[in-house]
Amino acid sequence: IPAAYQAAADLLAGKIILVTGAGDGIGRVAAECYAAHGATVVLLGRTVAKLEAVYDAIEAAGGAQPALFPLDLATATEEDYNTLAAALEQTFGRLDGLLHNAGLLGERRPLASASAKAWNEVMQVNVNAAFLLTRATLPLLEQAPEASIIFTSSGVGRRGRAYWGAYAVSKFATEGLMQVLADELENTSRIRVNSLNPGATNTAMRRSAYPGETPTDNPDPAALMPTYLYLMGADSTGITGQAFDAQG
Ligand code: NDP
Repeated sequence: IPAAYQAAADLLAGKIILVTGAGDGIGRVAAECYAAHGATVVLLGRTVAKLEAVYDAIEAAGGAQPALFPLDLATATEEDYNTLAAALEQTFGRLDGLLHNAGLLGERRPLASASAKAWNEVMQVNVNAAFLLTRATLPLLEQAPEASIIFTSSGVGRRGRAYWGAYAVSKFATEGLMQVLADELENTSRIRVNSLNPGATNTAMRRSAYPGETPTDNPDPAALMPTYLYLMGADSTGITGQAFDAQG
C-alpha cells in the first residue's frame, strides 16, 4: 500500500461491510474502524454478548447502526449462509465489502500427534466457512458498484513452520481460495479479492500461541488499520489477487 497511507474520514461512507469474528481482537477493531469511516457494518460472530458490546461501542461513537448476525462458523450449515444472504438482500440489497477475519488457532503440536477432530474444526472455521460465506454473498457483492473481499492469512500461510499444524495449512488454503476467486472474477466483475496477513498482533489468539511473550511487545490491532482501510475502500480499486502484509 502507498507509504503513510491515510484513509479519508468518509472512505467507507454508505458502504455495507460484513466482518466475521467481529466480537474480539482484530475483527472488533476493524468493525469499529470501518464504522468510524462511515460504513454500516454487519457483525458476525459466535458470542452474542461480545457482538452486542461492539454494537454498543459503534452506536456510542456515533456510527451507523450495525446489524448483528450471531453464527458459529464451526457448525453453520449451507442453509444458515443462505438465511444470512437473504437477510442482507432484504435489508440492504447489496454488500460492498466482506472481511473474512474469524479464525481458530487449534492445536500447536506436531502433525504426528495432531487430533483429527481439532484438524477438522480448524479447517471448517478457517477455510470451509470462508468458502460457504463467500459463495452465499457473491450475488450481493455483484450488486455493489465496486466491492472488496479480504481473506485473512498469516505468516505460516506463506511459509509452513513446525507445530503450526492445521492452522498453517488452513492459511495456505485461504491463499488458494483468494487466488482462485480473484482469477475467476478478474475482467468479469467489479469485485476485488486479496489476502492480508496482520502479522504479530496483541490479541487473545497471539497470547495463547505465544504464552511466553510480553503481550505489549506486539502492536495492538489499531496499528494495522491503515491496511485494512486501504484494501476495503475505493483507494484499492483494481487491485486483486494479491497477498498483503499489514506490518510491512
Ligand atoms: P482472536 O482469537 O482474538 O479473535 C478471533 C475472532 O474470531 C473472535 O471474535 C472469535 O469469536 C471469532 N471466531 C473464532 N471461531 C469462531 C467460530 N467458530 N464462529 C464464529 N466466530 C469465530 O484472533 P485475532 O483477532 O488475533 O485473529 C483475527 C484473524 O487474524 C484470524 O484469522 C487469525 O488467524 C489472523 N491472524 C492473527 C495474528 C495475530 O498475531 N493476532 C497473526 C496472523 C494472523 P469469540 O470471541 O466469540 O471466540
